[in-house]
Amino acid sequence: MTFEALGLHPLIQKALADIHYDKPTPVQEKAIPAGIEGKDLLVSSQTGSGKTAAFMLPALHRFASVPFEKSDKKTFNQKRQAARAKGEKVRYEPAHPKMLVLTPTRELAMQIVQSSEDYSAYLKHFRTVAILGGMPYPKQMQLLAKNPEILVATPGRLIDHMHSGKIRFDQLEILVLDEADRMLDMGFIDDIETIIAATPETRQTMLFSATIDRQIAETVESSLSDPAFVEIAHRGETASTVEQH
Ligand code: AMP
Repeated sequence: MTFEALGLHPLIQKALADIHYDKPTPVQEKAIPAGIEGKDLLVSSQTGSGKTAAFMLPALHRFASVPFEKSDKKTFNQKRQAARAKGEKVRYEPAHPKMLVLTPTRELAMQIVQSSEDYSAYLKHFRTVAILGGMPYPKQMQLLAKNPEILVATPGRLIDHMHSGKIRFDQLEILVLDEADRMLDMGFIDDIETIIAATPETRQTMLFSATIDRQIAETVESSLSDPAFVEIAHRGETASTVEQH
């Protein structure tokens, strides 16, 4: 199987070749076509399986395939200039991303941003920004003012920004819950539910989790609609119970 056979946009294939992704991993092979189709996804997979590309690539493909509309970033800059010319106070519009990736930790969020930047290297007008606990507020305000297409966030800090009116999700198209089992273990369930409730019901949702237990099943029930289920057997899982000679 190749990335070309999965139907990915040529500019994304070019970027993958640059970073030496020669062929899709098993989780990518199954998740990418369903993701491109716009289906909700429930994926049982672990770190190291290539799960980041499994959700980023179909999303970038979909964004790359619609013609770029005159961005409202420009409109905002024009508004800012007009306001300055009149000596008025500049009002920041809340960021309204197309895609949101919720992930449990700061480290994972930064890795996802890096991967997204790698995969979208040849796509114009694309910005991925991380919203993280521990990052100075003014810096985050600056990033949000650029109205990035993709936000990667840990749930707690994101809620702060939603409450202060800096982000709205009425134009969100794709929501990813990455390492959902870890986010629930860390006690983020209420935050996640609040965030999901603020997004449009028409969104595409992809949930990734190493384990699928009852709590995950309940979250799935309330957030995914008729999902495609992708389960990848992990090397070593059975081997570890087998004595080798
Ligand atoms: P992840 O499970 O998303 O954390 O990815 C694990 C590692 O595999 C990362 O270093 C990725 O850059 C790398 N990776 C993901 N997909 C591929 C691929 N198709 N070919 C080569 N490396 C990959």
